[in-house]
Amino acid sequence: MDRLTLKPGERVKLRDWDPSDAGGYKDSGEAKAELIDVQKRMAELQEVFYASSKKALLVILQAMDAGGKDGTIRRVMAGVNPAGCTVTSFKVPTADELAHGFLWRVHKAIPARGQIGIFNRSHYEDVLVVRVLKLVPKEVWKARFDQINAFEKILSENGVVILKFFLHISKDEQAERFRERLADPTKIWKFNPGDLDMRERWDEFMNAYEDVLEKCTTEHAPWTVVPADRKWHRNLVVAKKIVKTLESLNLEYPDPPPGLEKVVVR
Ligand code: AMP
Ligand code: MG
Repeated sequence: MDRLTLKPGERVKLRDWDPSDAGGYKDSGEAKAELIDVQKRMAELQEVFYASSKKALLVILQAMDAGGKDGTIRRVMAGVNPAGCTVTSFKVPTADELAHGFLWRVHKAIPARGQIGIFNRSHYEDVLVVRVLKLVPKEVWKARFDQINAFEKILSENGVVILKFFLHISKDEQAERFRERLADPTKIWKFNPGDLDMRERWDEFMNAYEDVLEKCTTEHAPWTVVPADRKWHRNLVVAKKIVKTLESLNLEYPDPPPGLEKVVVR
């Protein structure tokens, strides 16, 4: 699984990354059983993370429509304490947001120390959809790669640990999921006819994603390319990465306040 996390400077050709890769798991049963263990471990680690309040964890999820951002949040975070977790979804910017720099709304949503913050879309939309739909001139979006790297560096120097996941689905899998949405009364609300226009521009989006993955993988904020056609594999990859990262922080419960040894509760 380590190979899915990019190294700074690594070139990325998405057509060489198989979205249906199952990472050696034979079936969903094996992966689902493992996910339960990983979720338990995540819950334990989150308690210490919350109690120590030394770091914040920012988890960024990017994907094409129907790529599984919502499902990943639901499944991967199922075991964590909601008190230590925030989810922010970034939509088409409001007039107020557009009147500010593109990082303004993002900075406000950065988790506090002790919190896990999940971004459903992010500032990367400003070099993805904004680029593909030509919403700003080229020189404006091009300058944003460096701005994003500088921003994320500042965050990391101020205690924010950053994990970025690109949920990589195939164009065929997207078609399948769109058809499912249209046929299911409990899912049809998610379908936006505009999503089909984005689908038409699939190759342009992949091209824009390749730039994002190459230019914005840094030591302090690497991208992980998640093969996401199989939901059970996707969930496991994301959950394991989060657990590994929390473990690497070697966090400990804070010392009790001094003098407690004399305290008697009557
Ligand atoms: P959804 O995630 O399905 O709720 O859709 C949100 C929509 O907002 C997607 O079509 C995104 O591409 C769009 N969006 C998010 N951020 C931006 C942005 N900075 N500029 C333009 N569109 C955006
Ligand atoms: Mg949508």
